[in-house]
Amino acid sequence: MSVQRAPVATAANEVTPVRRGREFLNVPGPTNIPGRILNAMHRPAVDFSGPEFIDIAMSCFRDLKWLFRTEGDVFIYAANGHAAWEAAMVNTLSAGDTILVPETGHFSTGWGETAESLGLKVKTVASDWRRAIDPAAVEQALRADADHAIKAVLMVHTDTATGVTSDIRALRAAIDAAGHPALFMVDAIASLATTELEMDAWKIDVVIGASQKGLMCPPGVALVAAGARALEAHATSSLPKRYWDWTARRAKEHYRKFCGTAPEHTIFAMREALNMLQEETLEGAFRRHERLSEAVRLCVGRWCEGGALQFNAVNPDERSNAVTTILLPPGVDTDTMRAMCRDNFSVAVGGGLGKLIGKAFRIGHMGDMNEPMILGCLAAVEAALKRLDVPIGSGGVQIAIDWLAQPPR
Ligand SMILES: *Cc1c(COP(=O)(O)O)cnc(C)c1O
Repeated sequence: MSVQRAPVATAANEVTPVRRGREFLNVPGPTNIPGRILNAMHRPAVDFSGPEFIDIAMSCFRDLKWLFRTEGDVFIYAANGHAAWEAAMVNTLSAGDTILVPETGHFSTGWGETAESLGLKVKTVASDWRRAIDPAAVEQALRADADHAIKAVLMVHTDTATGVTSDIRALRAAIDAAGHPALFMVDAIASLATTELEMDAWKIDVVIGASQKGLMCPPGVALVAAGARALEAHATSSLPKRYWDWTARRAKEHYRKFCGTAPEHTIFAMREALNMLQEETLEGAFRRHERLSEAVRLCVGRWCEGGALQFNAVNPDERSNAVTTILLPPGVDTDTMRAMCRDNFSVAVGGGLGKLIGKAFRIGHMGDMNEPMILGCLAAVEAALKRLDVPIGSGGVQIAIDWLAQPPR
């Protein structure tokens, strides 16, 4: 249960009494942590080299392979998603290597900047942040790299800033069509457990994830899955990597898997999250995200008919199942919008990131989410937009209700 702050008066809102009830968390991470996962962590610390903990941890390593759809190795770090970017690169690349990071938005920029800080040379394929990666442009960039200087292609699957999901299979096909040997790495932090992803079947060499999005866990666990080609590249990669080192973490001694004390409670949480996903099945989780996010998209589509708001993602079939990014008209500031939602309607929505700062807000709809949570969020946001006199088309929440009134397929 979240602690409610006293509302702050701004030019755009007015002070209301202390708020009661649950605050809705519709930021695109961290997401709602289910009671089952909170309860799983509510226990004393244990001996991390004892048999009970080792069993739980090993079962997580095993079932994370199921989640990533891989026979490769999974590494668990006590860290956030930014660390997974770094871990993926230091384990497979060497100083001075060139990589290709097709631009998707704030998160491809961030991954590229991390690469630069490690001494890698970064090439990109530019984008306007409103469309998925163009596989033909990537193919062209790879064909132009005749001497194969590019050692890896780094793709953000769902860019959480833009709300756009790119097509992994199309990008893989582009790499193959160019006949290029670069490693293929995918940031699936926002798409894991929300959107289909098949690491081995789609020939992805590295997939990274984090605990606090579709996995419903507290922030603080970064995941990296490595396939055979990535492990091969690891053998000769020279970037420094004490904490991140896959070789040390693949050692037989259990304690080395975490490079020190295991983050036990986050592992208890991960175990319960995996139990929940196995009960639902991945297919079930994907279908639920699809259905709930379609309710959001239908509603936002109606709001846009008022002429002031726009989907950031131009193409409907590229809109993500994890987060919807909505552009605000000039004159309506994101912070005002977020404060109105939070302080007057008890719903937390995300702001714009990178070049969308101040210009967009984001509705997160991933993780532990159901119909009343989605409808409550949409209704509250609709009320906030009305209170701010943003012109919106009417009937947004109604069309979401009508969609959800149909039985799930
Ligand atoms: C959230 C997110 C990140 C960063 O994760 P942190 O835990 O905030 O470091 C990276 N990539 C994507 C796609 C994300 O959604």
